Amino acid sequence: MKIHEYQAKQLFAQYQVPVPEGKPAFSVEEAVDAAKAMGGFPVVVKAQIHAGGRGKGGGVKLAHSLEEVQDLASQMLGMTLVTHQTGPAGRLVKKLFIEAGQQIEKELYLSLLMDRATASVVIMASRDGGMDIEEVAAKTPERIIKIHVDPLMGIQGYQLRRAGFGLELPPAAMKAFSSLLANLYKFFVANDCSLVEINPLILTSDHQVMALDAKVDFDSNALFRHKDLLALRDLDEEDPMEVEASRYNLNYINLDGNVGNIVNGAGLAMATMDIIKKAGATPANFMDVGGGASSEQVENAFRIILADKKVKAVLINIFGGILRCDVFAKGVVEAAKKTGVTVPVVVRMEGTNVDEGRRILADSTLNLTSASDLSDAAKKIAAAVN
Ligand code: GDP
Ligand code: MN
Repeated sequence: MKIHEYQAKQLFAQYQVPVPEGKPAFSVEEAVDAAKAMGGFPVVVKAQIHAGGRGKGGGVKLAHSLEEVQDLASQMLGMTLVTHQTGPAGRLVKKLFIEAGQQIEKELYLSLLMDRATASVVIMASRDGGMDIEEVAAKTPERIIKIHVDPLMGIQGYQLRRAGFGLELPPAAMKAFSSLLANLYKFFVANDCSLVEINPLILTSDHQVMALDAKVDFDSNALFRHKDLLALRDLDEEDPMEVEASRYNLNYINLDGNVGNIVNGAGLAMATMDIIKKAGATPANFMDVGGGASSEQVENAFRIILADKKVKAVLINIFGGILRCDVFAKGVVEAAKKTGVTVPVVVRMEGTNVDEGRRILADSTLNLTSASDLSDAAKKIAAAVN
């Protein structure tokens, strides 16, 4: 689960990770009031979306007067911000963060993330922080330091120093940096983060270090033990259909093709996407109703897929194990009755109670095409959309 920069910085402050003074604003008036409270200029007006690259896309701007804050806030609120991380469709800006401007001496890069290969948290740091960090990673990867932290030992003094020396910090900033990094590690572990990224981490002219940006991603599988963090979720930033599917515990990801899929089991869903591609069509989604879906879940899955205007045909691929074919068929029939199916539907179904399931589908007035096996299903679905 991702959160906004302003939320991440509020959490940082609780862990004694230095951040500039700042306030979120949800309207132009709030932005102006927040800037007044800063008591000085410049202030920075920052668009809050769950994507990076805002600076280059026009979502981070300096203001030198209240009028300028007002102009920038009215431009940014409601704008569609396109960055290299949003894709061409961009994101609608609904929230701003107003911050006291800082005197930047140097922009550094610092992040913590889970490294699955070593099963530990890895610290990444670079002297070349700022808006071109992707280029540093691609062209001069040796300029990014990596330090692995043993999960049992925790972060050690020598590791803090190695990171600080690697960043070529002036001696006067070393102590502040060490405590910042130690606190950041504490924050990461205590909240089950999968990523914490500060780009840029700045060095000010008076040797302070400070997080000027903050990107935090929590491991969704651990959120059950952080109920307080759930309040930080912003549904505006998520795909509405994915949010709807998550309400029914459906594993759904929106894609850009035109063949809707309903499959049980993530592995079978991946294989189904592959055969659709191989047959010359493209999947519109990944929908795993799970091994033990109820007919209600199936009904909701079908309804969600049919509501997607891109979908020109639906492929149902079910292996009935724990989810019985008759239960599944009932769900499909119910959903089809309620929504009205106007697109071709191809069904491949095997497993427990398959005869009963096929009978339910055949007795319904639905216009379904049966497939004898996977490759037959792929051929039929490709023929339906091409
Ligand atoms: P991102 O582009 O989405 O990563 O947004 P950032 O929060 O990293 O901001 C982009 C850039 O804006 C930074 O790299 C800084 O160069 C600049 N910036 C942000 N805040 C300030 C500030 O307080 N003062 C100055 N001078 N520049 C800032
Ligand atoms: Mn940044």
